[in-house]
Amino acid sequence: MKKGKKLYEGKAKIIYATTDKNLVIQYFKDDATAFNNQKKSIIEGKGVLNNRISEHILSNLSQIGIKNHLVKRLNMREQIIKLVEIIPIEFVVRNVATGSITKRLGIEDGTVLKEPLIEYCLKDDKLGDPLIAEEHIYAFDWATKKEIEKVKKMILRINDFMIGMFRGVGIKLIDFKLEFGRYKSNGKSEVILADEISPDTCRLWDSITDKKLDKDRFRKDLGDLIPAYTEVAKRLGILHEQSNVSAVNVTKLSSVKRKRK
Ligand code: UDP
Repeated sequence: MKKGKKLYEGKAKIIYATTDKNLVIQYFKDDATAFNNQKKSIIEGKGVLNNRISEHILSNLSQIGIKNHLVKRLNMREQIIKLVEIIPIEFVVRNVATGSITKRLGIEDGTVLKEPLIEYCLKDDKLGDPLIAEEHIYAFDWATKKEIEKVKKMILRINDFMIGMFRGVGIKLIDFKLEFGRYKSNGKSEVILADEISPDTCRLWDSITDKKLDKDRFRKDLGDLIPAYTEVAKRLGILHEQSNVSAVNVTKLSSVKRKRK
């Protein structure tokens, strides 16, 4: 299978066509953006770590029956994924209140929610991804009721699985964002999990110290983003304990592993 032309370039990823019309290549960039693109930077090695972490989480989710777009990781920055039509909604899942919800509703930072909360945001950068009600989705035909019912069931299973996975390695899953898409094959359309799951799209706090191991290190200028993402990868068993935390070494490590295969 050959890499074709660029189909789409987003803030953190690029999608390329392949010779198979149902499959595309997802390339993880090092670009970091926040606050609706107002804050930008390039953090060397971030794409490599997100590619590995997202591969790990999505392949584990496949093993518990959560269908998703990942076919296989190709190299340190690229994965082959199923081409889907993205549902234009960002599904934000919260276990602990932090970030935008604390400001919007005056909730104390760190409040543990009685049950997981799903919020819907319209995927539209120009509008700043506004929060919407479930009813807006049906009023404007962004997805059907049947699709959203299925997505909600998948989200709760994904959340339970991920809480347990991270808890087992000393990390609290505070909140995260998911995207879903319609995969069309044999004349049928099926909703599957898409995009990425990584420290760019999750809030992850160390279970004991509450240290932030996610993109808040960039949003809040806390520094040491690569060591934090590397720590997540190491705890998940993706990178070995002795590997050095610098971006350069992460890059080297990935290529060494690839050559060995
Ligand atoms: N999130 C994301 N992409 C977005 C908005 C949010 O991945 O465009 C993730 C974010 O990393 C966090 C969760 O969704 O894990 C909830 O984010 P929140 O709405 O609190 O965003 P904030 O405005 O505080 O960044």
